[in-house]
Amino acid sequence: MFEYAGNFHIHSKYSDGAATIKEITYDANHAGLDFIVVTDHFNMKGLYNKEETYRLGVLVLVGMEINNTCNHYLALGIDREIDDDVDNPQKVVDEVNQQNGIGVIAHPVEKGSPLFQYGRTYEWNNWSVAGFQGIEIWNFLSQWRDGVTGILKGLYLLINPHAALTGPYKKTMAILDKYQVRGHRIFAYGGSDAHGTPVQKGPVKIVISPYKLCFKCINMHILTKKQFTGIIKEDKQSVYTALREGCSWVAYDYFCNSKGFRFNIKSHDAKWHIGEKVPQADNMYAEIKTPCRAKVILIKNGVPWKESLGTVHKFTNIQSGVYRVEAYHRYGFGSRPWIFSNPIWVI
Ligand SMILES: [Zn+2]
Ligand SMILES: [Zn+2]
Repeated sequence: MFEYAGNFHIHSKYSDGAATIKEITYDANHAGLDFIVVTDHFNMKGLYNKEETYRLGVLVLVGMEINNTCNHYLALGIDREIDDDVDNPQKVVDEVNQQNGIGVIAHPVEKGSPLFQYGRTYEWNNWSVAGFQGIEIWNFLSQWRDGVTGILKGLYLLINPHAALTGPYKKTMAILDKYQVRGHRIFAYGGSDAHGTPVQKGPVKIVISPYKLCFKCINMHILTKKQFTGIIKEDKQSVYTALREGCSWVAYDYFCNSKGFRFNIKSHDAKWHIGEKVPQADNMYAEIKTPCRAKVILIKNGVPWKESLGTVHKFTNIQSGVYRVEAYHRYGFGSRPWIFSNPIWVI
């Protein structure tokens, strides 16, 4: 398997972002990313203007973000724009599926900030929908904004944005776990929602969700069966296949890059990867490798099951159930949320 790191859920000048896709790619290259997925609001001008390309060694893919006031839905791998339908998100989900796209529910749980539009949120409010492929469990801009509970806190979070990024909300994880425990192949996505929005206050210019910073924070890592070839069509297919199959994890890469993380379930003669459904066998065990020393929690059926500290983590006695990994690395006197993997189902 080949590992690639990318950033997902990005806005450019084609909607309310501050930079062109070309400028954004420069920052992605600087951050060491292999791919980015630009998802402008309401349009796919990036695709129509042939900006889905390789630039500076970064594979640039273009999707879109649908819906305005709530029920934001990210669509990947489609080639025709899809209209908003805030009141009928099922229609939007269905249209993405008709185009064989991948649909991800964006920032489903938000708290809002009194300093942004009087605390308004853009949550997902209709869980009766079916047929979507992913849930964005962690969104940089959304959680940063949620942290801005007042002016002083806002100033502090401009200097130290990481303090706002406390990990996926429990409520969001509980929703995802519920689907996965029922056997639905719905996967975790992490997005930056980078807009690079400049705000001028007198002589002071600040930038909210700067691309450069966002591209080093919440990333998606994928494992592909085929090595990137440099041919856009083929590599695009590899990225979307890995995402669709859930062969991916979400990580906050800033303090410790998660490159090299692995979660496998093994038996004496076989090995399975993240996203797979595997038949139960004798003497199965889970093996997890973290590139830095970390506390790893193996979650079984949505509940923390076993823990381990170190870089190689082995958990025996794997019976039927759905298993996913959360890893926390050390930071100061405490720890920081780091890796949230997709599951392996043992059936
Ligand atoms: Zn949104
Ligand atoms: Zn967005």
